[in-house]
Amino acid sequence: MRWINQLNDPELLNQAFAIGTLTDEIVVTNPYNHQALCAIDNHTVEQVNHAIADAKVAQADWAKLSAKQRANILRRWHDLVLAAADDLATIMTLEQGKPLLESTGEVAYGASFIEWFSEEAKRAYGRHIPSPASDRHIVTLKQPVGVTAGITPWNFPIAMITRKAAPALAAGCAFVVKPAANTPLSALALAQLAYRAGIPPALMPVVCSLDAPLIGSVFTQHPDIRKLSFTGSTAVGKQLMSQSAAQLQRLSLELGGNAPFVVFADADLNAAVDGAIASKFRNAGQTCVCANRFYIAREIHDEFVSLFVAKVAALTVGNGMDSAVQVGPLIDERALNKVNDLVDKAIAAGATLVCGGQPAPAHGNCFLPTVLTDVTPDNPILKQEIFGPVAPICVFDSEQEVIAQCNDTEYGLASYFYSRDINRIWRVAAQLECGMVGINEGIISTELAPFGGVKHSGIGREGGSEGLDEYLETKYLCMGGL
Ligand code: ADP
Repeated sequence: MRWINQLNDPELLNQAFAIGTLTDEIVVTNPYNHQALCAIDNHTVEQVNHAIADAKVAQADWAKLSAKQRANILRRWHDLVLAAADDLATIMTLEQGKPLLESTGEVAYGASFIEWFSEEAKRAYGRHIPSPASDRHIVTLKQPVGVTAGITPWNFPIAMITRKAAPALAAGCAFVVKPAANTPLSALALAQLAYRAGIPPALMPVVCSLDAPLIGSVFTQHPDIRKLSFTGSTAVGKQLMSQSAAQLQRLSLELGGNAPFVVFADADLNAAVDGAIASKFRNAGQTCVCANRFYIAREIHDEFVSLFVAKVAALTVGNGMDSAVQVGPLIDERALNKVNDLVDKAIAAGATLVCGGQPAPAHGNCFLPTVLTDVTPDNPILKQEIFGPVAPICVFDSEQEVIAQCNDTEYGLASYFYSRDINRIWRVAAQLECGMVGINEGIISTELAPFGGVKHSGIGREGGSEGLDEYLETKYLCMGGL
């Protein structure tokens, strides 16, 4: 617990407790060295139901505020998050493992959603529709959905919450959030700042549990939860979707991906290499929009591989708290074993190991940045989300062939391609089956744009003006006898 007192503002974690003092606790550990950080309450179903009931009461008052009043409070939250960036980044790196610089980046990215939606909610316009009858007016209103709930993953412990909470609160909804049990401290600290900004604690409770399926069923069976927003695996998303049918809840699902990263022969090769490194190795490859498979045009394949491998081999692996480290640990041992196993199977299926290929000696859950070449379309590593620092490289000969390979997946979240041919850029972008395309860019996430997928990658969009609509209902008023 000594580390908490080393934060600039130890009170940020005043809901966290010393290990061993709770009857039913979640012990949060550092994925780099497996050290226990602290323990927090493992909430009961009764506590969660209580939180939902209180959220319902708080929502009624919150919705009565004007959009501008809500915006002012959200703006204060945004400012407090940025002011506490150092502490939030430290907490995040300790419980999640990503390098401190990336954690600081995520705090700014997370805060940007609060700023964006506080402004956007002022523009939640209804419409006045020309009437077919002269004695009638047809008007639509945008109203908050009501009490909403979110279930968030551990890979972006702050941004995945603000991307849901900010539009929900800005729209006038309550938001009950269950963070991943690996990373609840970032969520608790973020919520603490929200309460200090004037957001009523009952409006945005954080519920923590080791039994995620149980909380999932409480949320989906509760008649007062009108919407559920989930970010996580496709399997769990499908399960929540079928459960939520009972209450016909609105859903946003941001699920798995299998992003292709294509480099055409006419690309700027150095830019493509830099984009590939950023897209693949950010967060040790643990993002749903990470490049998962690389397709390189035969003419430039060898040159790309040699430039890429030189940069991959130079990446520094280790403890995210060390400022020189660029690739931190995977979230837990299970994740490490899964990645190790995927690499072994890829090699057994004919891939060539060019660098990495094993856990980093003496670095806890870290896996060495890995490049595999000679990966053929039937290799199993191309079929699933790797969620680790492993880059499988395939070679291709024609545009149509590579588009078909990109689309040969159940997923459809992000795709990336590099080309300088404007005709090809429009042609390929239109044909890729996915929700987002990075064209000559390896990092595409921003609060201003709609983030989301097609096929088994999900439903709905977060960010942009679309992100606010997810928390608004349209009510039609037919005003007659005028
Ligand atoms: P990941 O593989 O990224 O951990 P998950 O889908 O397992 O993805 O987890 C994402 C979030 O969903 C976490 O908060 C986790 O606790 C929660 N979760 C996992 N299983 C369920 C479930 N059956 N119902 C509801 N939430 C779940």
